[in-house]
Amino acid sequence: MKKNNVFKDIVEKKIPSEILYQDKKITVFSDISPKAPVHFLVIPNKIIPSLNYIKKRDKNLIFHMLRTAIAIAKKKKIYRTGYRLIINCNKNSGQEVPHLHIHILGGKKLPSI
Ligand code: 5GP
Repeated sequence: MKKNNVFKDIVEKKIPSEILYQDKKITVFSDISPKAPVHFLVIPNKIIPSLNYIKKRDKNLIFHMLRTAIAIAKKKKIYRTGYRLIINCNKNSGQEVPHLHIHILGGKKLPSI
């Protein structure tokens, strides 16, 4: 059993957050400390600690997360102007929360990487 974390608590509504979308598999919510005018996080409802833990059986889940990120970009009107999806993995990337998440960033010209 994986340990609970702050994102699992958001999925289960044990702590408040601005949830934009939720279904049986995934949740999308506003980042508490936005790094761009548009900043949302797409997470699986089940705990996957990082990208390193995805399995073949998760392929539909990962595709659903990506398709939903694109739908959110459309809804938030950054689909045409452009946006960035980021998945941090482990310490050197700066991953803080041990629960797989895709950042959706946009609404301004983002710095080159
Ligand atoms: P990471 O650095 O792990 O890729 O990103 C974690 C993100 O989660 C950060 O951008 C951080 O601001 C956000 N975050 C951390 N704790 C909370 C929280 O309790 N609520 C929300 N909405 N976002 C959080």
